[in-house]
Amino acid sequence: MRIDVVSIFPSYFDGLTLSLLGKAQSAGILDLRVRDLRDWTFDRHRTVDDTPYGGGAGMVMKPEPWGLALDELAAGSPRPTIIFPSPAGEPFTQAAARDLATRKHLVFGCGRYEGIDERVFEYAQTLGEVRLVSLGDYVLNGGEVAAMAMIEAIGRLIPGVVGNPESLVEESHEDGLLEYPSYTKPALWRERSVPDILLSGNHGAIATWRREQQIERTRARRPDLLHGD
Ligand code: SAM
Repeated sequence: MRIDVVSIFPSYFDGLTLSLLGKAQSAGILDLRVRDLRDWTFDRHRTVDDTPYGGGAGMVMKPEPWGLALDELAAGSPRPTIIFPSPAGEPFTQAAARDLATRKHLVFGCGRYEGIDERVFEYAQTLGEVRLVSLGDYVLNGGEVAAMAMIEAIGRLIPGVVGNPESLVEESHEDGLLEYPSYTKPALWRERSVPDILLSGNHGAIATWRREQQIERTRARRPDLLHGD
């Protein structure tokens, strides 16, 4: 998969050279390219923002650098999926990550200030599929942290990135429930013991117990998942 990221702070993404996604890039499974939006500006100050029409606080990202960036990154690519992280977007979920992991080419456009001139989203639709995606119901300073979270969630679903694909199947949100509790050695630690069932060797009983734990935990922490809210 190819992923292009456009940001005015490209070094945010240095962390994605580490761990599993770093290895995926070395192995040629993931082609991640991070670009500075200011490379598509031509004035002395490399300006990417201006005051909002209609007044109001803050600055808005100018459309011209975004148009040139998207033109260049979409060139030669059959309709990439262009993702703009936005608190006003559709919620990012595990299902969305699974869906996006099937794409050949993703482009992330990271907003800053009060966001990007609205016409950029309309224009981007002429180049590819456009998704405005929110990490959650809160406001970040920029799209970088949101894009990194999405790239990590999507990237680990690309075949070959996580060594044992079975470890992906039982995780939280894969079947609409939270994951069951996990334990490792020692069996007794600071007067707290591992549940007996996990030491029983009875795989059927362990599977049943884990399922019960998933349902109980989901009911306690995320009842909205059970009700399909
Ligand atoms: N004025 C915008 C609003 O009220 O919707 C918020 C702008 S925010 C300060 C700047 C940028 O951060 C946004 O353009 C977006 O790229 C990113 N951002 C902020 N919160 C986000 C969230 N919850 N999910 C995804 N991206 C977010």
